[in-house]
Amino acid sequence: MNASDKLVELFMRFPGIGPKQAKRFVYFLLREHFHFKEQLIKALEELKFTGKQCDSCFRFFGDNNLRNDKTKCVICDTESRDKNVLMIVEKELDLDAIEKTGSYNGMYFILGGLLPPLTDKPSEIIRIRELVSRVHSDIESKKISEIIFALPVTDYGDNTKEYVENTLAQIVGIKDVKMSSLARGLSSGLELEYVDRDTFKSAFERRD
Ligand SMILES: [Zn+2]
Repeated sequence: MNASDKLVELFMRFPGIGPKQAKRFVYFLLREHFHFKEQLIKALEELKFTGKQCDSCFRFFGDNNLRNDKTKCVICDTESRDKNVLMIVEKELDLDAIEKTGSYNGMYFILGGLLPPLTDKPSEIIRIRELVSRVHSDIESKKISEIIFALPVTDYGDNTKEYVENTLAQIVGIKDVKMSSLARGLSSGLELEYVDRDTFKSAFERRD
């Protein structure tokens, strides 16, 4: 297989990329200057060693400390962040968007997906086991007072929230933890990953 065909194959493994788009990327690369390709290769070369997963929020992270034994990302590892509040999001992009607003100083947990209604194997779709054990140990060390759901206002989002809430409800001590959701009016029809500062701030302040 030649390099172009191989690249088409690789691009097709990216989320949301079909054969046509994959080919478009390859044609783009063929036309691009040497410098662009060199930058791309360099960045990929670096990424080869990065991509660690935080054992606390489950976000993939990459920074200059990558080759050491760090197991927590920079957010989970920051002393000044409020450990009492845990925000549950679907994916990394949502976390990034919320961080960008600069309006939230608590902790996160990335579920890694959403549950379709009537699914029979939730633990294969979302990190429910990991979340349960995280909340459990947070409760034991009395570190948590509120869990905020920041999930999309869709059937999948609502279904996921209900399942997670019910599952967490079985944890001893969870009754002392408040559960809330971002205000719905603002987040409905709006993808969290594109949220701006004011919208997020308002949805956060009006959470219930
Ligand atoms: Zn983390």
